[in-house]
Amino acid sequence: MTSSKVYFSDLSSGSKENNLINRIGRLFKKACEGIEYDKDDLVALKLHFGEKGIDTFLRPVQVEPIIKAVRDAGGKPFLADSNTLYTGSRSNAVDHQKTAQENGWVRPVVSAPVIIADGLHGNEFYAVEIDGEHFDEVKIGAAFFQADGIIGVSHFKGHGMTGFGGTLKNLGMGCASRAGKLMMHYNVEPEVDIEECIGCGKCAIWCPAEAIEVEQYAEIDLEKCIGCGECRIVCPEGAIEVKDSSSNQEIQEKIAEFAHGSLIDKYERSIFFNFVVDVTPECDCPPWRKYPMVPDIGIVASKDPIAVDQAAYDLVKDEKGREYGAGIDKFGKEHDVDPTAQLKHGEKLGMGYRKYELIDIS
Ligand code: SF4
Ligand code: SF4
Repeated sequence: MTSSKVYFSDLSSGSKENNLINRIGRLFKKACEGIEYDKDDLVALKLHFGEKGIDTFLRPVQVEPIIKAVRDAGGKPFLADSNTLYTGSRSNAVDHQKTAQENGWVRPVVSAPVIIADGLHGNEFYAVEIDGEHFDEVKIGAAFFQADGIIGVSHFKGHGMTGFGGTLKNLGMGCASRAGKLMMHYNVEPEVDIEECIGCGKCAIWCPAEAIEVEQYAEIDLEKCIGCGECRIVCPEGAIEVKDSSSNQEIQEKIAEFAHGSLIDKYERSIFFNFVVDVTPECDCPPWRKYPMVPDIGIVASKDPIAVDQAAYDLVKDEKGREYGAGIDKFGKEHDVDPTAQLKHGEKLGMGYRKYELIDIS
């Protein structure tokens, strides 16, 4: 079986020359070997600018070396994400831009513009043909489709439906337009535990389908529910569970197919970073955070989107965590899913390899 190279840097340094900012630039150069951008190639750095109120999204100052490195390699970088399905602070391009600015994604901290890839209301996309098991066509935000290359810059952390969210999740869900996101969420069914529900109403505020009514406790109308799972993420009491773990596998596979669609003509000009820091159990979408599951580990980078996620997953698994020991699949334990389903499916689609060689450049 073939394997891929994954470059790693830890976070600790004792000199200016070898500080993390310089190492991030070196990680890019290592992972970028063999990639050349033509003059004026437009290169999208796929980011999550952070929901308003959370602080675990990536730091702009750590992304700037990647922006510079893309420019040095001949490309024209821009920072991009698509609008969310749920009604938070990033569900249209105006709110999304404003939230990005408030979270620090502005000049002079970052020297590239922010572009919301799927337009004002999330309906600017291209239909991309793929040979998937779930889809033969995926809907990718226009700016991602039109970009000449994609640099996935991902915060690696937990996720309620997929176990962990890394490169595949960042690209698959994050490059999809609103219609594309709906295609992936179609089969998920949430269920409220009325013993745990305190009737706070947060789930109803965030539900994009107006499927939740709250009196004493939340009630979900499954006829209206589009299965996005956001109610589970935002519930502060953990009172909402997503039924049927096989649908977790299915959504992971669908995410992998969308990630494949976002890269289909760009594999030769794309690189992927996972920042394995602030590894919280949940993603960066709710406007709060919980304690990280493990101490900060470092950054991995590769041309292979499967290998880079597998490496990050293994690093977290090997670490002794707050609740789970070394060698334990912490994301699987936390969310009762097999988080490697996305990787297995991505490998089947030909996106890359789960086997990798980890090269430490620290
Ligand atoms: S009730 Fe359904 S549509 Fe509404 S947030 Fe929950 S999963 Fe999404
Ligand atoms: S967010 Fe959770 S606790 Fe609040 S109403 Fe919804 S289910 Fe109940």
